[in-house]
Amino acid sequence: MTERRYVKLVIFAVQLAACLSQGTLAVAGEWVRVESGSVELITDVSSKTRHDLLSRAELVRGTLAAMQMGPQTPSRPLRIIAFRSEEEYATHRAHIVASAYYLSSSDRDYIVLGGRESRFGDELQHEYTHYFIHQKFSSLPIWLDEGLAVLVSTVDHRRNQVRLGRMPVENSKFLANHGLTHSLSALFAFDYAERNQKSASVLAGFYSEAWLLTHMLCFSPNYAERFLEFMTAVNDGATADRAIAILWGKRLQDVKQDLHEYLDGQNISNMKVKISSSPLAKIATQRLSATTSSAIMRDLSLKLQKRPT
Ligand SMILES: [Zn+2]
Repeated sequence: MTERRYVKLVIFAVQLAACLSQGTLAVAGEWVRVESGSVELITDVSSKTRHDLLSRAELVRGTLAAMQMGPQTPSRPLRIIAFRSEEEYATHRAHIVASAYYLSSSDRDYIVLGGRESRFGDELQHEYTHYFIHQKFSSLPIWLDEGLAVLVSTVDHRRNQVRLGRMPVENSKFLANHGLTHSLSALFAFDYAERNQKSASVLAGFYSEAWLLTHMLCFSPNYAERFLEFMTAVNDGATADRAIAILWGKRLQDVKQDLHEYLDGQNISNMKVKISSSPLAKIATQRLSATTSSAIMRDLSLKLQKRPT
């Protein structure tokens, strides 16, 4: 199994914790609007979960900004809606299997969370990665978009340091049991319409392999230096095969061989990134009337109806 080494980033965890401790009085079950910088959180979850979500959004923003995968501060307004009740969420699902999703619209972007509250943090990190990266790379192929989101879904911080690169438990189990189940050509050809028609097992293979390939391109010394150029090339319309040939002089079978070796733990490496400290936005919390929260839900329903399929 892949050797686990962690990228260590400098972070402002103490500053963050101090900021997030600022007052919020509403209790679980009461709908509130929490605003912090460009993030607006609409929710009826507990104060503890609200703080966790804002903390994780800031962690992902700082990490991805340090990796030059988007602007220091996202410009598109973001509304996160977190439903405490799965019944309420059920009427706002993007599609049947999703317990969380990211949605872009003309006036703002949305992240909607509605599965188990204990999973909200990891899901927020995944969906916030889509939101953040789309500010700079709005046309990535799905395998890379999802590979990055899974990669960043496990970023965390301890004792003022950030760890990036941990393998998610589900993907770890899948790769240990099944290995690499997709050809790279099949991985590159995956699209959103196809994603919604695939079985859970095929999707697990897709997400696991997308994660592994993204991890290798992002961290392996053989690839990492030109990873941002690769992202730019495929975002601008180049095929992954062509971009790989031009940037790294490799054929797909060479990359597949590298990926097998990477999975076996022969070539894992670390990437060092520094996150610069910056003042954190203040947090403002406001209770919402039933009329306002209903209007927000109607707005979400409208955006869901208009979304591209
Ligand atoms: Zn995703």
